[in-house]
Parts: sequence; C-alpha cells; structure tokens
Amino acid sequence: MTDLHRLSIRELAEGLAQAQFSSRELTAHYLKRIEKIDTQVNSYITVTAEQALAQADAADAAIKAGTASTLTGVPIAHKDIFCTQGIKTSAGSKMLDNFISPYDATVVAKGKTAGLVTLGKVNMDEFAMGSTSENPFYGATKNPWNLEHVPGGSSGGSAAVVAADLAPFSTGTDTGGSIRQPASFCGLTGLKPTYGRVSRFGMIAYASSMDQGGPMARSAEDCAYLMNVMAGHDAKDSTSVEKDVDDYVANLNGTAVKGLRIGIPKQYFNVAGLDAEVKARVEESLKKLEDMGAVLVEIDLNMTEAYVPTYYLIAPAEASSNLSRFDGVRYGYRCENPTDILDLYKRSRSEGFGAEVQRRILIGTYALSAGYYDAYYVKAQKVRRLIQQDFLKAFKQVDVIAAPSAPTTAYKIGANLSPTEMYLGDIYTLAVNLAGLPAINAPVGFDQAQLPVGLQLIGNYWSESQLLSVVHQYQQVTDWHTKRAAIAEENA
Ligand code: GLN
Repeated sequence: MTDLHRLSIRELAEGLAQAQFSSRELTAHYLKRIEKIDTQVNSYITVTAEQALAQADAADAAIKAGTASTLTGVPIAHKDIFCTQGIKTSAGSKMLDNFISPYDATVVAKGKTAGLVTLGKVNMDEFAMGSTSENPFYGATKNPWNLEHVPGGSSGGSAAVVAADLAPFSTGTDTGGSIRQPASFCGLTGLKPTYGRVSRFGMIAYASSMDQGGPMARSAEDCAYLMNVMAGHDAKDSTSVEKDVDDYVANLNGTAVKGLRIGIPKQYFNVAGLDAEVKARVEESLKKLEDMGAVLVEIDLNMTEAYVPTYYLIAPAEASSNLSRFDGVRYGYRCENPTDILDLYKRSRSEGFGAEVQRRILIGTYALSAGYYDAYYVKAQKVRRLIQQDFLKAFKQVDVIAAPSAPTTAYKIGANLSPTEMYLGDIYTLAVNLAGLPAINAPVGFDQAQLPVGLQLIGNYWSESQLLSVVHQYQQVTDWHTKRAAIAEENA
C-alpha cells in the first residue's frame, strides 16, 4: 500500500488489528518517507530506524498472539525533550548533543507499554524556549505548507512531522503555547492538557510550574487516542494529579455543541497585532459553531495586557534555576581545555547554550536576584493569581473560551523578529499556562498565502474531554483538518 500515511489513527489501529497491513510494513513506509522527504523539512534530529523495526516486529507478534492493545504497532515521533533510554535526548541543544538518557520519560514508557513504535526524536526550539524552531544547532525545521516559513515552536518538529506525514502523530510540550501555536501554524489539532494531567517525569524542564506534555495530530479523534496513552497520575512526578483519567476516545461525542456557551473575550479581538485574515477565519469558525447550536457570549478578560510581561518573568526565572544543572561537569557539553573550574563553567555554558537560552537565563537570574526578587518575581506571581481568577470568573458565565492560537500565520524563516516582537506573538497562549488550564488548537482555514489558521478553545480545569469533543464535532461537519500540504501528498 502506498497511502498508509493518509490513514487516521483509528484506521491504522483497525488495519493493524485486522491484519490488512503489518506494523513492519507501516513502520518501513514511514521510514522511507522520512528518508526521502525529511531532507526538505528537517524535522527529525534522530531517526531510530533499527529500533523502530524491532518494535514493529514485536508489535506484529503481539497482534498475532492476541495480546495487543488498541494502538499496538502504530508509529509515533517524540519531541526531543522527552528522555528516551539509550537514545540521544538533546532538548534541541548543543549542551545535550551527547546526552544518552539512562531512563525513559513516563510519557515514552507509557507509549511503549501501549505498543507504540518510536520513529525518532524531533526538532524544537532549544530547551523549548522560542516560537519558530529555528534551532541554532540543529537548523531550522520547515513548515510543510511552505518551506520558506517556520512551523512554529517550540514543538515545531512535532508539528512538521505530522503535517508532512512523516509520523501519524507526535508528542509535544507546552509551557506557553508550544503545542497550540505550532499546531496552528501547521494546520493541526493539538491539546495542551490541564497542568498535572500528564506526567512531567523525564521531560527536560523549562518552567516547571507550567510545562505540560500533550498530543499533536491531524484531528481531535487522533489526539484523543494519544491522550488515552499519555494521561494519568505518576508517582514519579509530584505535581501530577491523582484523578481518574477519562476515556477520551469514548467521550468524543460527550459534550453537546448545542447550547454550549462559548465566551468571546472582547480584549482578545482588539489586540493590535491581530492579523485581519486570522481574525476573519477565527470568526468564521465561531459562526460555524454557532450554526451547530453553540451560544456566543461576549466576556471580559481584563488581565490580557499582563500576560506577556508576567509569563516572561516567571518562565525565565524558573528556566534560570532549572538550567543551572548544565554545568559541564555531570553531563552534557564541556568546553575544551578549561584553565580552572570557573573557566569550565563559564565556557561550557556560553558555548553550549544558544543566544535565546542565554537571554532567558540572564533575565531569570536578574528577576530572582536579592534586590529584585520582590519587585519582579513576587509581583509576577501575584499577577499570575489575578490572571487565574479572571478565568475562573469567566467560567462562571461560559463553558469554554475562544481565541486565536496566534495573532498571525507562520512567520518567514529568518524573519529575525526582535525578542519583544517574538514574545508578543504568544499573547493568546501564555495565560492558559499561567493559570494551568487546558486548551486546544483546531485548524479553521487558511490565509491568502495558503498558510493555516487556528482556533483556540480554552476549557476549565480537567475539561480535556469536552475540548476534544467540541473540536471532534466541528471536524465532523468541516474538512479543514483533512487538508494536506503538497509535500505530504508526495510519495516516497
Ligand atoms: N514561545 C513561548 C516561549 O518561548 C512558549 C514556549 C513553550 O511553550 N515551550 O517561552
């Protein structure tokens, strides 16, 4: 079969279970595509071909023996921020280019238990800090819809592999939008779960109070299958929550769109940088949801102006602390011929980290330093609470909140935005992480340059099923999620 990469996750699972094709065939098909097409996209940092084929054979044996589970034999790509035993885990950094993890992240381990086949590890912004996946060490990943544009970030590789059909789905992480924004830029569905729903164990930390893993795929249904694998309490992550997990696939029609109250924050649609075409596509999608029976309710989110400054204090503060472990001594990059221990620290860190990571470490260290801690870090934490309260107030009025995922479509590669311009592009995603809420991106059309536009729906705590369900029903009556970039139509 030449078109295995066009099948949905449900179709792949059914095809494998009914022996229409084997996991080896399917895996080899994807490996062939990666070999031919990824030279243009640059999405994989590491392709684990040999291991993937061995996992595929094991999956085929399990299917034959009747011991397989739903997704046994389905391939996946992991963001290179999830530790994989025996396989390089770089976090997109020269600092960890030589790091072979001695253990699997819980998300990876759960994937193995579910019988998923790991195709490889994919590119990202260094240590997940950024919005373009123009990686200073591994190169820029390209947007499959237009190779001159970025796929977004930081989970840009995770988005590009799915959009180019180089993996049927992928894992991403979202600290301030890194699942939703690349999903938006690449025309995909991506879910950022409630903080604590997915284990962070073995996920290299950026800003620990906001980091959360989640699924990236073509449709809400595909995401639901991966959420069933990823979600759940983990004793190895003290912030993972002991709360029953939904069956996200069974619940796909669980929330009625009819009567669903969707909040439209006034402040969000008056943001200066909001592109007119993005605004138009998002409004059209909301009209569609209204036709399906949803009720649109104008709401206020008064803290909108505080999102960017608050996040860009708290996230770098946590990053500066988390990244202090990369000292050139215990693991990771070490400079050549250090003269003494201080020289070793200094040069290992200035040579091993890229410019954006160094910028964040400097900002964060400053915000945490003795004289400024109260003025910056503590103040930001107080504002963070106000932002959360703003959402809780809104959820008394409405069931979900609608927003663009990003104010624009995908930037050009090399656009070289200033840090502040770049940070402003995160305006619609950051607050969700500051508040710990779940949110989803759904593709809702294209701009004139044929670049995808995304709608973001923000839910109350633990409403992942509801978000997936609403998007699933939208996807039953629209076909944006089925559109494929030209490069995805290429056969290997
Ligand atoms: N773009 C945001 C940042 O640079 C979000 C990144 C993320 O979610 N990991 O911090």
